[in-house]
Amino acid sequence: MAGLRLRGVAGSPGVALGPAFVFAPAARAAGGGAEAEVQASAAPEAEVARWLEARARLEAAYDRLVERAREAAGRGAAGAAAAEEGLAILEAQRMMVDDPGLEQAVREAVAAGKRAEAATREAVDRYAALFAGLEDAYLRQRAEDVREIGEAMLRALAGEEPIPLADLPPGSILCAPELGAGALLALDREALAGLALGSGGPTSHVAILARSMGVPAVLGLGDFLDEVRQGARVAVDGEAGELWVEPAGEELERLARAERRARAEREELAGLAGQPAVTPDGLRVELVANIGGPGDVEPALEAGAEGVGLFRTEFLVTGRETLPGEAEQAEVYRRVLEAMGGRPVIFRTFDIGGDKPVPALHLPQEANPFLGYRAIRIGLDHPDLLRTQLRAVLRAAAEAAPGGKGGAAGRGGTGPAESPARIMLPMVATLEEVRRARRLLEEARGELVARGLFPEGLRVPLGIMVEVPAAALIARRLAREVDFFSIGSNDLIQYTLAADRTDERVAGLYQPFHPAVLRLIGLCGEAAEEAGIPCGICGEMGGDPRATALLLGLGVRELSMTAASLARVKREVRRTPLARARELARQALACATAAEVEELVRAFREGWTAAGAAGGADAP
Ligand code: PEP
Ligand code: MG
Repeated sequence: MAGLRLRGVAGSPGVALGPAFVFAPAARAAGGGAEAEVQASAAPEAEVARWLEARARLEAAYDRLVERAREAAGRGAAGAAAAEEGLAILEAQRMMVDDPGLEQAVREAVAAGKRAEAATREAVDRYAALFAGLEDAYLRQRAEDVREIGEAMLRALAGEEPIPLADLPPGSILCAPELGAGALLALDREALAGLALGSGGPTSHVAILARSMGVPAVLGLGDFLDEVRQGARVAVDGEAGELWVEPAGEELERLARAERRARAEREELAGLAGQPAVTPDGLRVELVANIGGPGDVEPALEAGAEGVGLFRTEFLVTGRETLPGEAEQAEVYRRVLEAMGGRPVIFRTFDIGGDKPVPALHLPQEANPFLGYRAIRIGLDHPDLLRTQLRAVLRAAAEAAPGGKGGAAGRGGTGPAESPARIMLPMVATLEEVRRARRLLEEARGELVARGLFPEGLRVPLGIMVEVPAAALIARRLAREVDFFSIGSNDLIQYTLAADRTDERVAGLYQPFHPAVLRLIGLCGEAAEEAGIPCGICGEMGGDPRATALLLGLGVRELSMTAASLARVKREVRRTPLARARELARQALACATAAEVEELVRAFREGWTAAGAAGGADAP
């Protein structure tokens, strides 16, 4: 008997084997009490008072968790990145608990005769539906926060601990129907070996946190707890998305081997922290992070990012009814620059339209939004919007420069000082777009200099994302007029293969290793080298270790990715001699299909594993 295999979804990679700790907090008085909840409440004031008392207990529970996460983040110890991530989630949830809108909705429902439980459900459902209906994935996730708070509030109303805590024996695999971010953060990290949950998907908070904590997790297992008794030996396979109950024989051996490998890898990657990203033959590669807001800066630094290769600034405008002004934007940008402490930060101008709606602009519905009114096209068509953003970045650059605004930067030196702030234009297809944007940048700069808000001698580089095949094909011409390239492989792949990146039915055509995609990247790498400007990449491919050698061979010298991918990509850079990477790229460009390229890459990388197993970790 190999044991029982239960299928869920992969939540966080790695394999963990250990005793199950089944954690099913007492069902709150929900099911049976539901009828009572909708009965008319005889004393509305008493119901409101009961709700306010429950909320106070919930606030206190959140305050305790926020405090713990803050302490853990402040200690800067291993796991501080997870603590930062958790802190951001908890603080956002803590604010929602106090939301006056929520209280108002509950008061109204109680006044209409509902009991506090039913009123809470109604208010929470309304809020959650509002968020769930938004197109922006980040904002959609807020629905999850609202529901989590609703559950905690109902527990508090039932007289239970609002955020139940599990007391874990060491080495446990926590098995639970669901687990909020708060409850996960409240666990003893040292004791938690793995996580198996009935609910949740790969983008849920609990999955994001488990990944940043390095805890293997399988989610979405449904009603699996009937199959797991307390203390049973279980194995979480976070890659396959499977939970094994009482694995035995060969299966047990396979899982135990995988667990040892995963642990050794974690240790190896941890050992790379603080080491430079340099190939064995001496090429220094810049490893930088993609961020979506100031909250991502700390985790990026923690993971060893040498800068920000892509700041997706559009969180400032998506889903908003009014647009942020120059000062509000400048403040956000300055905070990021300062937090990065002089390391380079690439601000991408608003990449809106397509799948990112901006209510304030009343953008029309389109039949082909990815081919339509998007990104730089909108910016050039709404020059005030783009100019405001350019001024905001310039102001932030000036304020973060030594000497502050309008200050000493660049004065009296040997030439213009270069700011760590860089500006990047998304979805460029033509040279005219670059020229018009540069004119707007010069105008913005002139206005600020006149207002004494920007020093004459400070240079803020202007680069472009190469996401449209047309741009890659004229890369040599573009390279003469921009300061850097960054390949937006997510879009470049979808446009090259004409395969919508959000349409699952054509997912098979979305091929990062297609020779056509590689040729376009190669054109950018060559053109950049010829013109003496840097060529980076900031799409998902940049964080895929399987693509690292190819990208280096094609001339890419800066790799930008989510913080979680940095260590693996660094390991890849450190074992890839540039000469071999070039040869690999040459062979890949001669391939006819993505499958052939993948096979080539697999064989190339197998060399490391074999050499590593033989003890020669650095040998190719
Ligand atoms: C890309 O297209 O690769 C990219 C980084 O931009 P986004 O994913 O934000 O469209
Ligand atoms: Mg893009």
